[in-house]
Amino acid sequence: MTTRIEPITEKSISEAKEILLQGGIIGMPTETVYGLAAVGTDSVAVKKIYEVKGRPSDNPLIAHIHKDYDLNKLVYIDNDYATELFRAYSPGPLTLVFRSKGVICREAVCGGETLAVRIPSHEGCQRLLKAVDAPIVAPSANLSKHTSPVTAMHVYNDLNGKIPLILDGGKCSGGIESTVVDVTGDVPRILRAGLITKEMIEKITEKCEIARHKETDKVRSPGVKYRHYRPNCETALFKESELDKVKELYESYLKAGKKPFVLCSDRVKEKLGDMNFLLLGKNEEEIASNLYLKLLEGEKIADIIIAVEMPDEKGVNLGIMNRLRKSCG
Ligand code: AMP
Ligand code: MG
Repeated sequence: MTTRIEPITEKSISEAKEILLQGGIIGMPTETVYGLAAVGTDSVAVKKIYEVKGRPSDNPLIAHIHKDYDLNKLVYIDNDYATELFRAYSPGPLTLVFRSKGVICREAVCGGETLAVRIPSHEGCQRLLKAVDAPIVAPSANLSKHTSPVTAMHVYNDLNGKIPLILDGGKCSGGIESTVVDVTGDVPRILRAGLITKEMIEKITEKCEIARHKETDKVRSPGVKYRHYRPNCETALFKESELDKVKELYESYLKAGKKPFVLCSDRVKEKLGDMNFLLLGKNEEEIASNLYLKLLEGEKIADIIIAVEMPDEKGVNLGIMNRLRKSCG
């Protein structure tokens, strides 16, 4: 199968729609990362997603809906705060987990009782959702365990020959996956941190918990128990208080005739001096937006990516650190 990358036009949207309605799967842009899309009621198509990615069969998918789609068709809204959260932060990088009504196929929710739903803000993605006129389920469009794609070319590099079409919606602005929040209980619970932060959720709901995952837990968001996001090169991760170790490791690679790169914020670069850098930017939003981009750039040019942690785990930094630990830790 040849894989084509097409810019978003009326023609490519209608082509994507045809492929999806005939049970195919495609690469689609969103504002977080690129998704590998199938119609959510089509169990055969959904199985293809798991096959193509090599995704563990107990890791469910997110249902993406058009902004005018009636959520009540898919899920039971048990708590008013869930509606308020969507009103405040959607369309956008917020996924809410509800009790499912079973419209979306079992394969997409791994036989579970809940369904994760998101309203993406990416204009091209909204156009596709409108054309298809049905929920689209999608995980990130990378091979399982690899770094998530934030350009159409990244999707191509992982899935060339396995899917017919990738809609090119440019570089994803958000750059890390959506915040996943369980809204089935009295208090919202963050299952996966992201750009919609605990602090932002607390503005709407007052209380918000963060689920702590252990490898041994029967976790509510199974995705977080797997190794994830890894670039195809060696990696190391240090705290900002360990910059002497960063330099030491860097030098040892140089001496061995290898190419080390340091992945860090602009601020940390100032403390390190003259080295090869993969620079993430100045503030949290910029750093999130550049994280996968720089990891995927790095795996092409570096023998090792030596990453430096964020200064704290508040706000967006929590989501960044969650990915950094899994990708480079
Ligand atoms: P990905 O798009 O690859 O980041 O995968 C989707 C993420 O959403 C994974 O971390 C899943 O575990 C999570 N997710 C999807 N559906 C559910 C659900 N019903 N309950 C909890 N987490 C979910
Ligand atoms: Mg993923």
